[in-house]
Amino acid sequence: MVSFALHGIGVSGGIAIGRAQLVSHATREVAHYTIPREQVHAEIARFDSAVRDVQRELEGLHSALTSGDVPGEFGAFLDVHWMILNDPTLSEAPKRIIAEQQCNAEWALARQMGVLVDQFDQIEDAYLRERKADVVQVAERVLKRLMGRPGTLPAPSAEEQTILVAHDLSPADVIQFKHHHFAAFLTDLGGVTSHTAIVARSLNVPAVVATHNARQLIRDGEMLIVDGTHHVVIVNPDRAVLAEYRLRQNEFDLARQKLKRLRSKRAETLDGEHVELQANIELPEDVGPALANGATGIGLFRSEFLFLNRQGLPGEDEQFEAYRKVAKGMQGKPVTIRTFDLGADKQPEEFDGLARVAPNPALGLRAVRFCLAEPRLFLTQLRAILRATHYGNVRILIPMLATVSEIDQTLALIARAKESLREQDIPFNADVEVGGMIEIPAAVLAIGAFLRKLDFLSIGTNDLIQYTLAVDRADEAVSHLYDPLHPAVLRLIGLAIGGATKAGVPIAVCGEMAGEIQLTRLFLGLGLREFSMHPSQLLGVKKRVLQTNVKTSMPLVERIRRADDPERLALLLAKLNA
Ligand code: PEP
Ligand code: MG
Repeated sequence: MVSFALHGIGVSGGIAIGRAQLVSHATREVAHYTIPREQVHAEIARFDSAVRDVQRELEGLHSALTSGDVPGEFGAFLDVHWMILNDPTLSEAPKRIIAEQQCNAEWALARQMGVLVDQFDQIEDAYLRERKADVVQVAERVLKRLMGRPGTLPAPSAEEQTILVAHDLSPADVIQFKHHHFAAFLTDLGGVTSHTAIVARSLNVPAVVATHNARQLIRDGEMLIVDGTHHVVIVNPDRAVLAEYRLRQNEFDLARQKLKRLRSKRAETLDGEHVELQANIELPEDVGPALANGATGIGLFRSEFLFLNRQGLPGEDEQFEAYRKVAKGMQGKPVTIRTFDLGADKQPEEFDGLARVAPNPALGLRAVRFCLAEPRLFLTQLRAILRATHYGNVRILIPMLATVSEIDQTLALIARAKESLREQDIPFNADVEVGGMIEIPAAVLAIGAFLRKLDFLSIGTNDLIQYTLAVDRADEAVSHLYDPLHPAVLRLIGLAIGGATKAGVPIAVCGEMAGEIQLTRLFLGLGLREFSMHPSQLLGVKKRVLQTNVKTSMPLVERIRRADDPERLALLLAKLNA
């Protein structure tokens, strides 16, 4: 077996050693296998059942179109999908392929879709040619059903550590890892703060993304070493390399073990500054790891993950139960629930093709913009969060605010949600704090209104970097330009912290930068006293806080603030961390 190394971007540190398990993903990687003649019937029945499921799904969507809030073209759009689904070229032809070629249903459908797409490409009429996208969307819906979504991920082997290898994984795919326990994963695509990477980090397993062709080069069952800290994957290592990495793995685990002693220690700098170290979570069950790592609260609950990997949207009661679970689980410690930040790379199944997603979704209808465009959905969530305020110390956090009008509209909707609960005599905390995320440069540069109208702020550095540098955070092709230490980014962060501190408004950082030990001292010097990060990063950052004297580090922090040469800045930062 040939041994070779692949390089990518390590998005979650540590070392894992295990066997490769390759993952297919919807149409991009439809498996092709032959089925025995006697199973052809069952395979056709499986195809029929997937088509029926999608029919029901479309019917469900149609019957949900009762309110006046929904644009008329929604219905027409669903009708087109219904017609495509029921056209024999899509619902019957694949069955012939299954029977004639004795192949699996996914393959038959993908082949037939290819034939149809080719036919559409020949059409001269531009309008009709554009219907090609609808055919692909309908076929993908059926494919997802066939491939068992949700739950496409194969179960890991019980005996050996399993490492997942995929071309690409969506955040929704990765969140399923929480239940699957893979030792590590690697993908061909992905940027350093894509939501896929963020969820990987929260799983506390090594992960390397942007390996370009791992999915093609690695075979099922091959032995792999994934070193997330050094951004490298070794395929079929020889015995000496394996032994070396086992040693490093033990050292890494030991260091992590040692950190556990800091769990209940108060986070205080050498010169007596108290620091809040809170946790970022995606699901209610993350409360356990947050508390186990000494979190003093939840600084960011990415509530949109409740909307992924499921059919239909979670109703008010279901959301309320999830929020209440977190509120109660944190036993009075603050719980900051971010209203859902859907759109861009986080698309619920139910919105497939429905959301008005622009070609560059990161600049489109996302987060609070989406919420304000879908007020019914937003009100449901706001009511659910408000109900949970009765069971703990819950705060509301609004993502991606840019304008005063968005703040005003959001506050008006919260007032409306409160009013409706009052009318029904449902208890809630009327003084619930409402905060805003600082993720767009405009929000920093015009922070005055944010300070006047909101109770607290939280800097989402992942998006702030993306929008300041115009670099898509999920695109590995431009990941070399994604630079948290760009002077413009540091300047904006400094401005936001300075402005909020002066106005007496609490401010936190909850983007990935908050969990970077190399940046802890810099943030403290900039005046930050509240951090929120993955539970697995809390103790490492706490250790750094305990070793920092803010006063004596100030001269260096000031020089970093003023530096606009990247090399000089890196040198100064190294000095600050020495
Ligand atoms: C951020 O943008 O920094 C952030 C914390 O939010 P998300 O990563 O979920 O966009
Ligand atoms: Mg964000």
